[in-house]
Amino acid sequence: MSKPRFDVISIFPEYLAPLSLSLLGKAQENGLVDIGVTDLRVFADGAHKSVDDTPYGGGAGMVMSPEPWARAIDSVAEQTDAHHDLVILTPAGKKFDQALAYELSQRDHVIFACGRYEGIDYRITEHYRENPEFAVREISIGDYVLNGGEVAALAILESVIRLIPGVLGNPASLDEESHSIKGENDEQLVEYPSYTKPAEWRGLEVPAVLLSGNHGDIARWRAEQSATRTRKLKE
Ligand code: SAM
Repeated sequence: MSKPRFDVISIFPEYLAPLSLSLLGKAQENGLVDIGVTDLRVFADGAHKSVDDTPYGGGAGMVMSPEPWARAIDSVAEQTDAHHDLVILTPAGKKFDQALAYELSQRDHVIFACGRYEGIDYRITEHYRENPEFAVREISIGDYVLNGGEVAALAILESVIRLIPGVLGNPASLDEESHSIKGENDEQLVEYPSYTKPAEWRGLEVPAVLLSGNHGDIARWRAEQSATRTRKLKE
């Protein structure tokens, strides 16, 4: 597979600066992924480079105009021959989860469209759904409303890129973390609690089993803790 590429389109490209930090920055430096950030306003017309207009049908707020979005998406898509996944970030989308993170980590080119104001004219979704070179996904990071899609793009990119082979120093840590651990009935579990040194801190002791050196007991204790924690979350 060729190197995966991720593009983010936003009117606030500076919001995406953390993409060059920490593991995501290293993943790019090490040639494991390419990440591009595109300023939507570059594709807007007129002296004011306006990217929004009043909503048809009335109502509060402004809606992002389709033309600058189509120009920006086409421009980013032209840079690679790969099939494109167009992620339109919206609180009205499918809820993002670890399974979707795995899916996106296996794609060749993912474009993130970060809305602002009341969101992007819906014809962008309709237009690219008709184009066989694109798979359009409307994705939400949770049941709450942000001011823009940039924070959602950052959260999704961080969870997706760490799943790409070679990005994490110790890939084994992926097997034992929340939402990847499977219980007895194959249900998804969250991780067991973790402890480090010192063994006693402010009167609190690390569970004795973790100091026992008995790997079987430790594995059983961790499995029980994962199951209990997951059950409590559902209460
Ligand atoms: N009027 C829209 C609605 O009620 O569905 C909300 C628009 S929101 C103020 C502006 C932009 O923030 C959206 O277009 C989207 O890109 C982003 N956004 C807000 N909440 C989000 C969420 N939970 N997940 C993903 N993106 C979100």
